[in-house]
Amino acid sequence: MDKFYTSVRLEEKLCKGCINCIKRCPTQAIRVRNGKAVITKEFCIDCGECIRICPHHAKLAVSDSMSVMEGFAYKVALPAPSMYAQFNHLEDVNIVLTALKKIGFDDVYEVGGAAELVSAKSREYVEKNPDQWPLISTACPSVVRLIRVRFPNLIPNLLPLQAPVELAASLARKRALEDTGLPPEKIGVFFITPCPAKVTAVRSPLGITNSGIDGAIAMKDVYPKLLPHMVEVMDDVEDLSISGKIGIGWGNAGGEAGGLLTDSYLAADGIENVIRVLEDLEDQKISTLEFIELNACNGGCVGGVLTVENPYVAKVKLKQLRKYMPVTRNHTELSEEEGVWTKEVQYEPVFKLGDNMKESIAKMAKVEELSNQFPGLDCGACGAPTCKALAEDVVRGVANEKDCIHVLREFVHKLSDEISRF
Ligand code: SF4
Ligand code: SF4
Repeated sequence: MDKFYTSVRLEEKLCKGCINCIKRCPTQAIRVRNGKAVITKEFCIDCGECIRICPHHAKLAVSDSMSVMEGFAYKVALPAPSMYAQFNHLEDVNIVLTALKKIGFDDVYEVGGAAELVSAKSREYVEKNPDQWPLISTACPSVVRLIRVRFPNLIPNLLPLQAPVELAASLARKRALEDTGLPPEKIGVFFITPCPAKVTAVRSPLGITNSGIDGAIAMKDVYPKLLPHMVEVMDDVEDLSISGKIGIGWGNAGGEAGGLLTDSYLAADGIENVIRVLEDLEDQKISTLEFIELNACNGGCVGGVLTVENPYVAKVKLKQLRKYMPVTRNHTELSEEEGVWTKEVQYEPVFKLGDNMKESIAKMAKVEELSNQFPGLDCGACGAPTCKALAEDVVRGVANEKDCIHVLREFVHKLSDEISRF
């Protein structure tokens, strides 16, 4: 398994090298080289910002196609709560769930149902572990990836519970095994995902060794297939939903924290806000809270780049849908081991410059020296987002100081002066 897998790719022929994405990437993972935007996968946290910003649609997220279901005798769909926010005038989530059974799935298991169990487990964990306050939510894989590469001091604050989709996968598989009696390898469990970070979490999970999900299909690919069937099933809607207000609420920013039934929390969304909160947390400016909910996408999962609806409209739709729902529809209890992390998240020092402290300090001094030679315009013409990033690239040996057009121009001037003297 590649621990630095990323689901974000460049469609090379569409890239114009315009540098919009290098400026937007929160981890400075992109450089324009030879006119094309190259991602350093070790730095990428799958936030999707480069996909959102690219005016030429050259960045895309890879996910599984519906054909991933082939070869499985019994197929279960795991729809994320944000799925319901894609449809206009939806009054009953069972319409979506019944329609999913018309497009090739044999059963559905709402991620929102598992989210309610995670909420209950989180309440218990937060209460029993005040020494870890503020606990940081781990449902957004981009946030966990960001913390593992950039905020190692905050790793002990991570809530060590599986994301609702992983719990949903194991509960759905268990139910399918009981219902069908089929061998486990004949049962396929597929997540309908709102974002590339969750595709990456399936292929290269954190906190667990292997994901229980057999494929992650983009919400935007399932959406057009569902629409005609939603009309068709209107007269024969099955009662399949297992989630209430709490579970569906996880689709919006603040929904997870809302399920904790405490006021001692902070919820931030949008990757730049998330970084600001993590920096403040590191500086111990927010230490009195019990819980911090962080979502890389604006608005929470409804803002994922694999959705179809405007995140702000989606947020309202989800709010309206929740209005007449029961608070929760999940009344089972998890065992102590169920839904917890089985593997520690380790710090990955991908941004370090040297192999030891002495070397790192020497290289940082070199970065400083080089940065002072550059004009400080952060123009991006060199292919790096800032002059400092170019200096770091030079020190890492992946760029040349003459990649800076200003340094190059001075060099050419000097050269022509010297030549003219002969
Ligand atoms: S935004 Fe990035 S990926 Fe898109 S065209 Fe510009 S350089 Fe290429
Ligand atoms: S997905 Fe986010 S972290 Fe990865 S390259 Fe794009 S902007 Fe950077």
